[in-house]
Amino acid sequence: MRPEILYPLFAPIDTLKGVGPRVAPLLSKLAGPVVRDVAFLTPHSLIHRQPARVEAAVEGAVQTFVVTIEAYQAPRNPSQPWRVRAFDGTGSLTLVYFGGLGGRIEGQNPVGAQRLVSGKVERFGSEIQIAHPDYLVPVEKADQIPEVEAVYPATAGLPARTVRRLALDALGRCPDLAEWQDPAWLARQGWASWRESLARLHAPQSDADLTAQAPHRQRLAFDELLAHQLAMGQKKAERRAEPAPPIGAGRLAEALAAALPFQLTGAQSRALADIRADLACGERMSRLLQGDVGSGKTVVAMLAMADVAEARGQSALMAPTEILARQHFETLAAPLEAQGIAAVLLTGRDKGPARAEKLRALASGAVQVAVGTHALFQTDVVFHDLRLTVIDEQHRFGVAERQRLQAKGQATHLLAMSATPIPRTLELTVFGDLDVSRIDEKPPGRTPVATRAIPMGRMAEVEGRLKSVVATGAQAFWICPLVSESEKTDLAAAERRAAELRERIGPSVGLVHGKMPGPEKDAVMARFAQGELSVLVATTVVEVGVNVPNATIMVIEQAERFGLAQLHQLRGRVGRGKAESACVLLYDPPLSETGQKRLDILRRTDDGFLIAERDLELRGGGDPLGLRQSGFPAYVFADPISHRDLIAAAGDDARLILARDPDLTSSRGQALRVLQALFDWQAQSTLQDAG
Ligand code: ADP
Ligand code: MG
Repeated sequence: MRPEILYPLFAPIDTLKGVGPRVAPLLSKLAGPVVRDVAFLTPHSLIHRQPARVEAAVEGAVQTFVVTIEAYQAPRNPSQPWRVRAFDGTGSLTLVYFGGLGGRIEGQNPVGAQRLVSGKVERFGSEIQIAHPDYLVPVEKADQIPEVEAVYPATAGLPARTVRRLALDALGRCPDLAEWQDPAWLARQGWASWRESLARLHAPQSDADLTAQAPHRQRLAFDELLAHQLAMGQKKAERRAEPAPPIGAGRLAEALAAALPFQLTGAQSRALADIRADLACGERMSRLLQGDVGSGKTVVAMLAMADVAEARGQSALMAPTEILARQHFETLAAPLEAQGIAAVLLTGRDKGPARAEKLRALASGAVQVAVGTHALFQTDVVFHDLRLTVIDEQHRFGVAERQRLQAKGQATHLLAMSATPIPRTLELTVFGDLDVSRIDEKPPGRTPVATRAIPMGRMAEVEGRLKSVVATGAQAFWICPLVSESEKTDLAAAERRAAELRERIGPSVGLVHGKMPGPEKDAVMARFAQGELSVLVATTVVEVGVNVPNATIMVIEQAERFGLAQLHQLRGRVGRGKAESACVLLYDPPLSETGQKRLDILRRTDDGFLIAERDLELRGGGDPLGLRQSGFPAYVFADPISHRDLIAAAGDDARLILARDPDLTSSRGQALRVLQALFDWQAQSTLQDAG
């Protein structure tokens, strides 16, 4: 329930002065539906009004003049403006008004009156003019014209100055709220109260006041981050509070591990230990397993599934695509079955009696492990006792999808896996309600992939080299990005490329793309995996989310269009064996300076986490990493880059607060609840909800 003190802030925006049926939808689009949203609008620049003489007027500057009104010139037809001639002793200034406003202005500013006029100076031939001055006031009302004025975001039909007025009105409705931050921390940071900080947001005095580092901006960002971290902490605690029967580390997993042709890496062992501690503790697990492509996440998940099976529970592993599900099944089924653990593959392609048979086996408990796609959470899929769900490439699934699978068991443990490296600093904001294990070490014996950036103009050279290495038995991926608006066009480009490569290299060039029917796609993939095809042209990253250890070359067209993390993931598809591998980043010159730096990072390092961190720094604002999509919340004040340190601090603070006062009942706790309500970050509304 929303605290009463916040009611004025959650009133609809049409309660603001001057917001009627015309303005309301515009303002709502710009800010949001309630008064709070308008009060949270942030000015993006400043107007400094300089007092000036007409003879020294500067074109393009916003200036204020003291003038005498000399004459009104009415338009000859309605499409022309009113022109008002004014004079300040040094020169003539013309005020221009479109839209028949002149009559009213004349009434208030008769000829002979002395006025202050302020606005953007324009030059029209030899004439100095101001179109629609921002201010035209009697001299004694000089105080109505601010020397510096904040400029707000605007939209068609809603000019910045109107937005400013509305924002100030909204600010006026913000009550003083009981302090929720620790006073010592506030003092150390030199931050003002919430209300005061918000007031400063709307009254910037200098450009420094507009930056993310301004104290009031930091304070507001920290408030927002803390509200979010608290919500995620509460969510995590709630999930933990759900009891789940303990599952111990078992003999089957041990035998399974012993039968593997390799030893787990240190990082894999640590991740497995984390998972086992979760499974054994009697609470529901919500853990994210983060690790680069090829770091060996699947093996870790498999060992956990063996523990679950030994405890007579079932596990489900869900992959985003048919090909990936199939590949997981092929990796897992044999080793599991060697320990007497039965597994089935369930995808959209299972139909009729075969499918019915699989469903029966899951419902009876005859099968302990199900691997599949979205097909796993269809309503008629019933588990005997689902205890663990493993979600591969977790960001590819929606919250609802994960929850539907988890709901097929009681207090089902969740293990999410992700190969999208996310900077450590952001991990908290995206996955704050999950525990995270990182596999930050690759299995031994991998050689680094030699990475080179080459302009598209040298394509023929690349093709020639490809031809000669393919002749020695090497295999290559060739990625054509989806770049145009139309899938058809992209597809055509990929087909052309495949045809061209076929011409140059030979018939062993295959093409796989997202629009292909499943079986056809699998057939091409299988031919590539078996070495029948030497080059695989693919339109998207989806199709290459697979493991083909013999492939050693990755060519990526228009590499500058991909995110670094994506490029890194693609590159991870090669370099899996002892053989030398290469990654060629073809780009459309000229590369921007940032573009060059980005590709450089890839050449220099193979550490996905480092790459993500640098990418974040280089790309700056907006949503370059697709953070929104990967669950990064749409913050109002907090910025993932500028406020990185605050994210960490808010995470620590939230943990401390919830450890001392889990239900937020102390007096600070009460204030914190108001904070959460202010930002709408209650536990039940967290965006990234692991279910
Ligand atoms: P991920 O899911 O993290 O991309 P996988 O679990 O698919 O990685 O592992 C990639 C490849 O590495 C697989 O062929 C797997 O058998 C192998 N592998 C996993 N762990 C190790 C290890 N500790 N030593 C050697 N090879 C490993
Ligand atoms: Mg994987």
